[in-house]
Amino acid sequence: MNLLAEKAREQVARAGVRMARAGLVLGTWGNVSCRVSREDLVVITPSGMAYDALQPRDIVVVDLNGSVVEGERRPSTELELHLAIYRARPDVKAVMHTHSVFASAMAVARLPVPPVVEDVAQIVGGAVPVAEYAPAGSRELAENVVRALGQGGAVLLANHGLVGVGDSLDEAFNVCQIVEKAAQIYILAGLIGTPTILGENEVIDLRYRYLTSYGQNKGGGERR
Ligand code: 13P
Ligand code: ZN
Repeated sequence: MNLLAEKAREQVARAGVRMARAGLVLGTWGNVSCRVSREDLVVITPSGMAYDALQPRDIVVVDLNGSVVEGERRPSTELELHLAIYRARPDVKAVMHTHSVFASAMAVARLPVPPVVEDVAQIVGGAVPVAEYAPAGSRELAENVVRALGQGGAVLLANHGLVGVGDSLDEAFNVCQIVEKAAQIYILAGLIGTPTILGENEVIDLRYRYLTSYGQNKGGGERR
């Protein structure tokens, strides 16, 4: 068996546990996948299995057409949504789909999550749009999500939840956590006053500084 795919299965199983422990999903809902680098393969969580008991052997390996290459389990019912994103976005290496409460509340109100805090501006680079409603697991949902996501980092699924993408499982997880936090802050701020949304130029600047100089592994960008 392909060693890279085996490693990816372990990483996806761990990411599923992490997503559940962070409270981003309840029960068996939500799903997570990653691309196997340099191969046209995707590894994805199985449908309807509890995250706390998830083992690497439960993770399903598929090709970009969705044919199962390895694994005994039935893949997530959102497989087509994950594959549609990978096909449309070669830069995306991991996709996480959550049902977190505040992001879902925004998705029910069908309102984008605006950039109200700096970390969401940094990691998403703007408002998180809402994809048009289509039933869970449908091809139409996959198409709506790809359209609304565009080149962005996250998208709300109307009356359903959130999808975050990234160049690693860690990044997709961070996106989902930070969008959830921004949705929570936006809703709470609206209860006590009028939320101030960061301006377009501020968001561009925050995103640029994040991409060029945040953390340990980037070349030093211009500093304040
Ligand atoms: P799966 O358990 O099939 O991954 O589905 C969960 C879900 O969130 C559907 O949208
Ligand atoms: Zn879902």
